[in-house]
Amino acid sequence: MKTIFSVLLFVSLFAGAQDKKHREHRAHSHGHAELSIAIDSLVGQLEFKSPAESIVGFEHKAKSDKDVQRLTTAKVDFETNISKYVQFDSSLGCKFEKKSIEMVSDASDDHHADFVARFDVTCAKPLQGTTILFDFTSVKKLKNIDATILAGELQLKAEIRKKKTTLEIK
Ligand SMILES: [Zn+2]
Repeated sequence: MKTIFSVLLFVSLFAGAQDKKHREHRAHSHGHAELSIAIDSLVGQLEFKSPAESIVGFEHKAKSDKDVQRLTTAKVDFETNISKYVQFDSSLGCKFEKKSIEMVSDASDDHHADFVARFDVTCAKPLQGTTILFDFTSVKKLKNIDATILAGELQLKAEIRKKKTTLEIK
């Protein structure tokens, strides 16, 4: 935990839904991802959406054996690492359960595809008053992530850049 306090934090918090930039749906832009976590009391969901290029390394349909293998590896890596990317306070006993991880192409655009991962989140204690640590530093092609966290009545936003970023849930 001590490393959290030795890095510069780039966290922007907005108590309400006034931040127009974050409300608009962000266009597919390589290096930029969106993360949303919504937990009501002890149970909720996490959704991560990124251009596939930034996670898988390509966006065309995986046809060759090599592509299929790269996609499979990317999915497995993401599932394995989700509890490193999003670290709830260990005392909360939060667990992730994969719902789906897939590469999604817009039918009207076969040049760009998104990588979308969804997890169920279950915690033994409520998040309020604790801290989430985001660490996507191992995902080298991601430049920033717009995160939205809903925890009960609280709505918080954070911009996660290429550093470990903490967010207080309060
Ligand atoms: Zn693209």
